[in-house]
Amino acid sequence: MALPVQWPFADLSPAAPGDETTPLANRRSWKPDGAKQWSGPSPLEHYARYPEKHPQEVLYADDDTVVIYDKYPKAWFHFLVIPRQPVRDIYDLDPMVDIPLVHTLVARAGRLIRHLQTQPSFPPRALAPSQYDGPIAPHHPTPTHAALTAANDKGEGYLADPRLYRFRLGFHTLPSLPQLHLHVISDDFMGPMMKSQSRWNTFATPFLRPPEVVLEELEKLREASLAGPDDSGGRQPARIVRDRAREADFFHLPMVCLFCHKEQPNFRAHRDEHLPGCFQTELENRCRELPTSGP
Ligand SMILES: [Zn+2]
Ligand SMILES: [Zn+2]
Repeated sequence: MALPVQWPFADLSPAAPGDETTPLANRRSWKPDGAKQWSGPSPLEHYARYPEKHPQEVLYADDDTVVIYDKYPKAWFHFLVIPRQPVRDIYDLDPMVDIPLVHTLVARAGRLIRHLQTQPSFPPRALAPSQYDGPIAPHHPTPTHAALTAANDKGEGYLADPRLYRFRLGFHTLPSLPQLHLHVISDDFMGPMMKSQSRWNTFATPFLRPPEVVLEELEKLREASLAGPDDSGGRQPARIVRDRAREADFFHLPMVCLFCHKEQPNFRAHRDEHLPGCFQTELENRCRELPTSGP
């Protein structure tokens, strides 16, 4: 299948069984060119519709998905996988037709992660292939650049080795922008835009709803739908129901370090003093577990 866009995006060819996807049937259509799909502002809509216009942010695109660099990275590696068709959020997913769509987003995320982990010099920003060979640090335009450069200077080059990063996948329970997007985020959570405890909790708690949880909810709704019409007798299609009270609770949960699991009473102290050391210890441990011996 030909790609609809011309930019030399990364080749996220299937790398493992289960990574292949078949083109989606029943695509929803966008409103006519120029008309906004959603009432609120959504730059994500623009990436979905016109990926070729965003060569700096788009890493990959095909007929069904776009992969972009999150504009406000909360971790050293932070991407969004977005469907090309209009889907507002998880509450807009139709259990009767959209289960394959969620599987496609997950498969694309899987390919992205494997691509990342097999390319030690993976660029943190979209670049033309000719620029791809440099080490990871020099291209990064954020404080991460300084962090990685300092680490390399200290002989800790393994910090820039993507094989050591683990990833979380999830949809936000309360998304900040319309147009469905699957977060793919490395678990360091040390991105330049990780700036508050509530931000932390939106990625470190079940506020970030893993795709398997969303799929389970959709499967249940689908089964219920197939079992027969509901009591109301209406033709209202079932959807995942929002739980606003529970959404608000996540922001007030105590902040817990992902690596040592200790509660962190102060966000700044956690981010600036505790986390860098704790994450480094974690990476050193992961480094020892790698089949080949480090850098
Ligand atoms: Zn989000
Ligand atoms: Zn810790």
